[in-house]
Amino acid sequence: DTIGGDLDRTAARVPDSDALVEHAGGRRWTYREFVADVDALALGLLDAGIDKGDRVGVWSPNRAEWTLTQYATAKIGAILVNINPSYRLHELEFVLGQAGVRMLISAQRFKTSDYTAMIEQVRPSCPGLEQVVLFDDPSWDELVARGRAGDPARLAAAQARLGADDPINIQYTSGTTGFPKGATLSHHNILNNGFFVGELCGYSEADRVAIVPPFYHCFGMVMGNLACTSHGAAMVIPSEGFDPGTALAAVSAERCTSLYGVPTMFIAELDHPDFESFDLGSLRTGIMAGSPCPAEVMKQVIDRMGMAEVAICYGMTETSPVSTQTRADDSLERRVSTVGRVGPHLEVKVVDPATGLTVPRGEAGELCTRGYSVMLGYWDQPEKTAEVIDRARWMHTGDLAVMDESGYVSITGRIKDMVIRGGENVYPREIEEFLYTHPDIVDAQVIGVPDARYGEELMVWVRLRAGAAELSAEALREFCTGKLAHYKIPRYVHVVDDFPMTVTGKIRKVEMRRQAKELLD
Ligand code: ATP
Ligand code: MG
Repeated sequence: DTIGGDLDRTAARVPDSDALVEHAGGRRWTYREFVADVDALALGLLDAGIDKGDRVGVWSPNRAEWTLTQYATAKIGAILVNINPSYRLHELEFVLGQAGVRMLISAQRFKTSDYTAMIEQVRPSCPGLEQVVLFDDPSWDELVARGRAGDPARLAAAQARLGADDPINIQYTSGTTGFPKGATLSHHNILNNGFFVGELCGYSEADRVAIVPPFYHCFGMVMGNLACTSHGAAMVIPSEGFDPGTALAAVSAERCTSLYGVPTMFIAELDHPDFESFDLGSLRTGIMAGSPCPAEVMKQVIDRMGMAEVAICYGMTETSPVSTQTRADDSLERRVSTVGRVGPHLEVKVVDPATGLTVPRGEAGELCTRGYSVMLGYWDQPEKTAEVIDRARWMHTGDLAVMDESGYVSITGRIKDMVIRGGENVYPREIEEFLYTHPDIVDAQVIGVPDARYGEELMVWVRLRAGAAELSAEALREFCTGKLAHYKIPRYVHVVDDFPMTVTGKIRKVEMRRQAKELLD
């Protein structure tokens, strides 16, 4: 099916259930109201000359207009181009040009960024950008008003021309390991993925999901929005950008049953000084994904946040995103220590990157995924696509994984982050997991730094608990001695307040490695 058709079916089934709620903004829509606004915007887009296959950019933090734009473009088959809210001039110009964006729909500002001024600055060098529509501005109101006055038959005709395999969305990867690439995704890719995520979370119209991760990323718009609309659940937007206190307040005020985040977001929420004052009693489930999920944090999410059924998902933008997910009835041990089993109707395998052959269960190799979720390709980059999707349509993820006898997958790191110290392969993840057991360490990230003797040496960056005493390299090494093999014990320790991050809340080890070189020089 198409995204628009699926939304119409949900709205016919549960018209009076909440569809969308802005906790900080105070606005809310039932499914009936939501579809009415989506349809008005879709007709407005048609009226403005936007057609099937045209690219429409959306540049904004999480707010209701983002979601309306997502569904309105899907209804007419325009290709939504998600633009990262933390992009600046150079990146904006790149995306607008690379994706050939005809219309840009944007917030006017976010935090200290003046989007309107940046758009004006890049316009001369983006001749393909014909129209700019701004939220909280007459240009948005006019677009919607024209749509409201439009002919519904025109929208029905536009919808009738859509195919489930048409491209519908270009999502740029997080840029954790290099320059972002535009994954081109179809209705079929992301609608199915959102649907199965919702199935495994057991969503129905009784659920209210606090979507904290940014919409520009598949975690927000697929695992969040599409999982909700395909099951009639409510999408709750705590605030425009991430704020741990506001996220907790939104759960409490909106009686959310599910809460999403990357591990760093959950760590910040658990660490909030007023944590105990929020009533989180409505929480049943949630999803932690996007980067390695420390077992210790998972346990706290279950015990202190009451998210008894919380799931870990593993995936990537290129695969819509989810490939594996833990189920509520998996053992606690597996739910905190693995990324679960392959999702419905998908395949995964672990191969030796050198030979391409499947490795025995229990051995590490590169994880590959195949099935409905694999993207159509990188937008306008067939050579890059051919590097990651092979002839048999397997997506090579670049992630290292181990699959056990029962099919549970553990992610052991990224091929690019693996450290080779004196000929030994070291997986930073394993050391980080161990360091989380140190009472003063809130977060630990291990990288390899160049070393004349061993090729690479280990350096750990740590965030300490408020009020903790200094942590010297000697003290940390002593803590590890006897518990980790000698070659896994970090030589250097660097205490930080924050890690370099992507807007999706992922730690940018590429940037850490760059800064580490300067620290050591
Ligand atoms: P780029 O591809 O631009 O370098 P990115 O890979 O971070 O950035 P995304 O598509 O947002 O971009 O993220 C997918 C990656 O996130 C996966 O390939 C994997 O490395 C990591 N990841 C996702 N979920 C998990 C998880 N549950 N555990 C460990 N790692 C995860
Ligand atoms: Mg990637």
